[in-house]
Parts: sequence; C-alpha cells; structure tokens
Amino acid sequence: LNIEEVELSILAKEVVTEIFEDIKCISKDFKHCKNVFIDKIKIKRVLINIISNALEANKYRGKIWIKTNNITLDNREYIEVSIKNDGSYIPESERKKIFEMFYTKNKKNGTGLGLYICHKIIKSHHGEIFFFSNFKTGTEFIFRIPCFNIYE
Ligand code: ADP
Ligand code: MG
Repeated sequence: LNIEEVELSILAKEVVTEIFEDIKCISKDFKHCKNVFIDKIKIKRVLINIISNALEANKYRGKIWIKTNNITLDNREYIEVSIKNDGSYIPESERKKIFEMFYTKNKKNGTGLGLYICHKIIKSHHGEIFFFSNFKTGTEFIFRIPCFNIYE
C-alpha cells in the first residue's frame, strides 16, 4: 500500500465529479471528515466499483445517494462511506456470494471482480465493508476505514 493522509469526503467528491461527471441522479452529502491513512488509488477504485454497480443496478430507474460520516465504535474513530441506490434488491439467497470472486448476475459484461476487489482493499486497510438490501428501499453499500494510523 502507498499510504497517504487523506480527507475521504474530498476524495469521494473528486471521484463523483471527475469520473462520474457529477451525474445528476447522484445526491451527495459529504460531511467534513477526519483524515484517514489510505492508499488513495486503491480507495478510489473501491468508490468507482461501488458507484458503477449502483448505476448499473439503477439502469431503468432510481436515484443514488453518497454520504460520508465520522463515526465512533468502541471508542475508536472511523470514516464511513455509504452508497445507496433505490432501484435494486439483492435477495437473501445471493447475499453470501456478493463478495466472492467471479460472482456476477444479470450483466452482459459483468466480471464479478468489482466487489471482490473492494473487499480485499478494505480489508487491507483494516476496515469493514457490508451492505443492506431491502425490497422497498433498495441497496446500500457501506465501508468504513479507521482514522488512526495503523501503519506507524
Ligand atoms: P459485476 O459488477 O462485474 O457483476 P461485482 O463484483 O461488482 O461484479 O458485483 C457482483 C454482483 O453483485 C453484481 O453482478 C450484482 O448482481 C450484485 N450487486 C452489486 N451491487 C449491487 C447493487 N447496488 N444492487 C443490486 N445488486 C448489486
Ligand atoms: Mg461491478
């Protein structure tokens, strides 16, 4: 990892405006965040993979929300990034497979590598990645990264 100190809401904003050209179906709520110690290129890849999936899942309808937040768990600080889309549902029976290598469904050019890579990258940053999916409200992917420098 090529670790740098980064403000995650700025990185998320950068990805949305540069790579997704500020598509208007995206609603952003970038709270100012404490710095995290990350490999910027790798975390950018995580954002791109999750946002791409949300856009692909919302092909025919729907909106996407991206949020960053400071959270505390067991007295430790983390930054949490949430990417939610309202146009898709992951059924119970598929949830176990979502982060598996080559798991893809209903995509012409799906590789099934996107979330596998996200999971690997977030784990290498000592973070967590998980999701919620609800038939009515849609699908939300969340990852969190520690604010403390684990590399010192
Ligand atoms: P790929 O996008 O190449 O299919 P990914 O690893 O990125 O591979 O995603 C794996 C699968 O997880 C997708 O094919 C899709 O079925 C499911 N998935 C990922 N994100 C979402 C989402 N936001 N809503 C519904 N399903 C999703
Ligand atoms: Mg994908």
